[in-house]
Amino acid sequence: MQTINSYDFKGKKALIRVDFNVPLNENFVITDDTRIQAALPTIRKIMKDGGSPVIMSHFGRPKNGPEDKFSMRHLVGHLSDLLGVEVKLAPDCVGEEVKAMAAALKPGEVLLLENLRFHKGEEKGDEEFAKQLADNGDCWVNDAFGTAHRAHASTAVIARFFPNDKMFGYLIESEVESLDKVVKNPQRPLTAIMGGAKVSSKITIIENLLSKVDNLILGGGMTYTFVKANGGSVGNSICEDDFLETAKNIEKLAKEKGVNLIIASDVLAADAFSNDANTQICASNAIPDGWQGLDAGPESIAQMKEVIENSGTILWNGPVGVFEMETFAKGTKEVGAAIVEATKKGAFSLVGGGDSVSAANQFGIAPGVSYISTAGGALLEYLEGKVLPGVAAVRGE
Ligand code: AMP
Repeated sequence: MQTINSYDFKGKKALIRVDFNVPLNENFVITDDTRIQAALPTIRKIMKDGGSPVIMSHFGRPKNGPEDKFSMRHLVGHLSDLLGVEVKLAPDCVGEEVKAMAAALKPGEVLLLENLRFHKGEEKGDEEFAKQLADNGDCWVNDAFGTAHRAHASTAVIARFFPNDKMFGYLIESEVESLDKVVKNPQRPLTAIMGGAKVSSKITIIENLLSKVDNLILGGGMTYTFVKANGGSVGNSICEDDFLETAKNIEKLAKEKGVNLIIASDVLAADAFSNDANTQICASNAIPDGWQGLDAGPESIAQMKEVIENSGTILWNGPVGVFEMETFAKGTKEVGAAIVEATKKGAFSLVGGGDSVSAANQFGIAPGVSYISTAGGALLEYLEGKVLPGVAAVRGE
């Protein structure tokens, strides 16, 4: 397998699939350029080697062909500033004119192709469309982990046209390496903290993790489905009655696999879903009617911290309380602080999934963890144990 570090890009037109799906405000100004920043190391490496990056991405959700509000033209100025060269914009992502523009690039020059999703063939994974994309380059670099779980033309199918000239960019390489430190050969003990609102959205991951982890902390809104399944009173707490049986099965499976399953024994309950609500600490299985559990209680927080601080590897996905409200943020903050502590002592920690990433950023935890993944769907599917087409295509699996 080729790698971006060992590949010689000199004189090559390198087709790079990136994820430039950034948010814009009503004046078409980029409001968060994290995804563009994340792709810069790969683009710069190719330029430095004397290659010419031909950058392709999707942007927004155009439904019926080209639409100005989804044009890559809104990104070209900022990308030029970041790279310090004037990036050329192609009028489309395929076709003779585009192919000629790519072919005419001199070393170090950069071409940005127009939105891939202006063509239906992209999401359909159409082979002919993939072939036309492939005509714009001598090699293919996949650096879009955010779309690696999709078998689209530019993220997977295109690999067929570059049997010996395909590789990951730095971003995917580090995502996959970091995830493998958790799911393949973790330093023990391995602790996963799964939080968030619902059990239903996380069942497959939880089931897959049960055969890997030593400790599994289930927090947040999921707590109450488990508590109720065991006959507890959860008051008005969020609870999925259709998943009581699932919760029981997860507990049974954890027992069979020898996993230490931790679910809050005490909670911070409130008489309304509001930052200004009245609150009380109560046992998680004795929440009075009219009250709802919105954060872990002190006893549970202490137990979670103890487990986290003694872990060799930690995976965190989802907050353990309604962290958006200050009154109910303590559990999530403390879990984050414990992860930072463990990391200082040598543990490998990975935070992934939208809400835990925002919590980690909001509470200043991010700099103290080993790796933050922003991949969303692709990350979750990897943790579910699924093969990601964008990863498999590069590896030739
Ligand atoms: P998810 O998208 O499933 O990861 O859920 C994240 C959301 O779960 C966050 O917005 C939290 O506020 C919310 N959440 C966490 N704990 C609770 C809880 N006890 N009750 C209701 N919502 C919660």
